Order: sequence, then C-alpha cells, then structure tokens
Amino acid sequence: MSHVFPRHSTSDLPTAVAGEGCYLIDANGKRYFDGSGGAAVSCLGHSDAAVIEAVKAQVETLAFAHTGFMTSQPAEALADLLISNAPGTLDRVYFVSGGSEATEAAIKLARQYHLERGEPQRRHLIARRQSYHGNTLGALAAGGNAWRRQQFDPLLIGVSHIAPCYEYVDRTEGESSFDYGQRVANELEAEILRLGPETVMAFMAEPVVGATLGAVPAVDGYFKRIREICDQYGVLLILDEVMCGMGRTGHLFACEADGVAPDILCIAKGLGAGYQPIGAMLCSAAIYDAIASGSGFFQHGHTYIGHPVATAAGLAVVTQMQERDLVARCARMGEVLQAALVDRFGQHPHVGDIRGRGLFRGLELVADRDDKTPFDPARGLAARVKNAALEAGLICYPMAGTRDGRNGDHILLAPPFILSEAQIGELTDKLSDALGRALSAG
Ligand code: PMP
Repeated sequence: MSHVFPRHSTSDLPTAVAGEGCYLIDANGKRYFDGSGGAAVSCLGHSDAAVIEAVKAQVETLAFAHTGFMTSQPAEALADLLISNAPGTLDRVYFVSGGSEATEAAIKLARQYHLERGEPQRRHLIARRQSYHGNTLGALAAGGNAWRRQQFDPLLIGVSHIAPCYEYVDRTEGESSFDYGQRVANELEAEILRLGPETVMAFMAEPVVGATLGAVPAVDGYFKRIREICDQYGVLLILDEVMCGMGRTGHLFACEADGVAPDILCIAKGLGAGYQPIGAMLCSAAIYDAIASGSGFFQHGHTYIGHPVATAAGLAVVTQMQERDLVARCARMGEVLQAALVDRFGQHPHVGDIRGRGLFRGLELVADRDDKTPFDPARGLAARVKNAALEAGLICYPMAGTRDGRNGDHILLAPPFILSEAQIGELTDKLSDALGRALSAG
C-alpha cells in the first residue's frame, strides 16, 4: 500500500522511475511521451545535462542560506537575468517555491503598496471567471473556477470576477474580435466603478488562460485596454504567467505578445523546468520604491524564499534557453504543432477549437461543433482522455470544464521545447488514439 497521499485518490498511477528527453519511464519500463510537460513545467525535457550539473554543483557548494541573514550568488544572478529581460518597469524579483506562493505574495504586495501610499481603503481585488491562480486561500479566492472553489468558499476573501476573454464561446455573431475584446475589457471599468475606484487595489489575469480554459489567449487589443483602465483608476495590474510564462508561448514573458507590461508579474513552472520547485514575483520599481521608502519591509516571507539550489536551477534553465535559442525554437515548433493538430483534428466532430501560442496549445472538446455544446460533465470525458492517453503512452493535460455551463472539457498540450517534428507526429498519433478510445467508451 502506498502511503503517499495521491493527487487523485481513486486512480492507480504508474510509478515514474526515470526521465529521458521528452519521455518519462515507469517502473515497468513503459515510456510515456510528455506532451504536457507535466503541467507546462518540463520545458527543457527531463534530462538536461547543464541544469542537472548546476543543481549538483550548487548543492555541493551551498545548499541553503536563510534570506533573513544572507543573499546568495545564484539568487542575485537569476534576478539580474530576469530583470534584464523583463518588460516595462519590472525591477525587483521576489523568489518563492511555486505558483500559488507567487500569486499569493502578489495579492499581499498590492495591498501593502496601497497602504504605504496612504490609501488603506484600496482592498478590492478583481479577477476573472474561469481562471486559476493557485490553491492557497488567497490565490484560490482570486481564481474563478467554481468547481475548485466550492467547498472552501466560506473561507475565501471576497474577490469580484468579470468575464474572461474567451472568444470561442463568448464573441457574439457579427461582432469583430477587436470589438469583443474591448467589450469584455470594459467589464473591468464597470466593476471598478461599481466598487468605487478608490477602493480597488488590483486586477489579476493570465495572459493565456491555462488549466481552466485550455490555452486561450486574449484577442488583440484586450490587454492594452485593460492596462489603460488600470492606469486610469490607479489599479495595479497583476499578470499570472505561472503556466504561460518562461518561453512557453514563444516569448520569454507571455505579455510581450499583448504589448503590455504589468505592475506585478508571477512566474513559476517553466522557471525551474521541474528540476527544482521555484516561482517568482517580479514587481515594478514604483512598487518597490513605495515600500522601500515607507515601512522598508514587505510583510511576507517563507523559509525557503530565494533558495540557492532552486535559484541555481532557474539560472541554468534561463541560461540554457538563451544559449540554445530555445524560446525562438518554441515559437517555431508551436506553429508546426498547431498545423499538425489542425491537420489531424480540424474536422473532428468533437473538437470545436484548436488554439494557443507557441508550445502551449488547447483543444476544446464539444458534444456538438455547431452550437459548441459541452459534453455532460457526468460523462467524465477529461478523466477518460487522461487514462486512455496514459495507456497509449502519452501524458497530456485534459481538464473538465469549470462546471458553470460555459466551457466544457479541453486538452492542454505543453511539450518540452526540445521536441522534434517526428515527435509531434508521435504526439498527435497517440492523442488521436486516446481521444478515439475515450469517446467510444460512451
Ligand atoms: N497560476 C496559474 C496560472 C497556474 O496554472 C497554476 C498551477 N497550475 C498556479 C497559479 C499555481 O501554481 P502551483 O501549482 O505551482 O502552486
């Protein structure tokens, strides 16, 4: 009997014993193509020699130094590297151990920023429905996924939720993409005015919605309008790039494609690429200065922030991306993957939409392509696809809809940036096999 508390209490999961390039290998020697990099984590594959060497060297030299007493070379070097490539006025980096820690810290930093500036009445956070920002209480409150929230709702802080930018389902007949984007962005202004502009502290969103919608980017102009509204009302813009950041969309930071820079940016998954647990929150010089010249101390902290081994892994990952031009490769292979998906599933009666950016792609599964009706959640299609894919030797990331009737099941793909064109063929073959079997199971 296993004493590990599994993520999914009922499933009998294989035991991973090794990783090799784009593959994971289980205890029976079966190989799985990692078509989702776990959950958009393993951007360099599973056996990157340079990152492994950097982790080994760091743990042998300095395993840990508490940031309350000392900084460390890898943390300083990684912060420099991130800031030298970061958009806008992002100027400081706060290292944490994962995505939820980054978004949770961002919410607290936004609140403290307004306090330091003498605006204690700014306490409202606005986010979007059908979003996910993490599983700690603050991050969960920010997320709009009804299913994930429901049993914890009484414990969650009040957050307002506006519509996401989800063109496939929500754009109306005859409306242009641009007009649709402006319409849903303007929901932010309406909500700020409803709450009272002087009471709103921040707006949080994912540039490309990952787990909840399945690689859905915003339409052109949406985030520019969001940025404008935030500036007009003194509301901080927090972008959650935990899943879509770090090269995944073909840009080091996903928001580059939208032509905006946030006040606070959260990253995680691809930063450690699975070699170490690490996340980060980047903030603007203005936020840092407000705190530095005010109380002088961000009222936050965890024991393992800025961990030397984790930051050494992050430094090696970003260095590899730069030295091997892997972000450009991700953009290029993303186009190849999109074309292969359209070729294979473009006419599939139950694949309603194929979308995404870079190597971050989503397929939306529908009962009816014409009216985009989702499958009945009771059918458990996403879970069936996951199991059928594992049988076929493929790891992909199918998710059920948020169960609020708007969006149904989808499959998220986020393979390592190092995959080859032949492996794209392997991915689509196995996915086709898994989807066929999951659908025919009734
Ligand atoms: N934000 C987004 C957009 C995510 O996709 C996730 C994880 N799926 C998180 C936050 C939380 O990250 P973690 O699981 O590392 O806490």
